[in-house]
Amino acid sequence: MKSWKSILTVLVVSSATIGMQASPAAAATHPKLGCKFASGTMKWQDATTTSGYAAAAKNAIEAWNSTSTQFNINKTTSGANIRVANGNFGNTWKGLQFVGITLDTSQEVPTCNSTGTWRTTMVTWWNDYHTQHYAPSKRQAIMVHEIGHALGLAHVAAPSGSSCSKVTVMDIAIDRWYDKCGFWKPRPGDIAGANEIY
Ligand SMILES: [Zn+2]
Repeated sequence: MKSWKSILTVLVVSSATIGMQASPAAAATHPKLGCKFASGTMKWQDATTTSGYAAAAKNAIEAWNSTSTQFNINKTTSGANIRVANGNFGNTWKGLQFVGITLDTSQEVPTCNSTGTWRTTMVTWWNDYHTQHYAPSKRQAIMVHEIGHALGLAHVAAPSGSSCSKVTVMDIAIDRWYDKCGFWKPRPGDIAGANEIY
């Protein structure tokens, strides 16, 4: 259903065009993937391998939970809707270069059933290869973005030169915008999009 390109966070500006193909959702103010969780009461599991990633995972979840949204993501040790993980995908993986990616439990592009709910647990990844030296807040920014995909949000692509006030955490180049604007929590546009889903 979705191309790989629709859910990765690109590493460099020159790759950004790969995620910007037109799709029906792209015309929306807050683009959606078209899939979501069945309930606004969700569970997440920490599958990180270091205390640094674990802290960023917890902070990313709390960043979403502290927004004015109708859902909540509670920690669990089994049966999670979202599994937050880090792993080394190398500089490129399946021909793609990314700092974060959201996959299903088979490491394939996530799909949803006829009722629009995800078929499997959503696994939100940091790519260690690129993020192992990131500051804690930059790791958080990446994971807030990936969790946004799990919630059902698609990419936004702000034109280069955009005012930081107009950029969202779901921007396809969040790593670059983090460097410029320094935000690592959901932005008003992200929250509005999530409120349209749940
Ligand atoms: Zn993304």
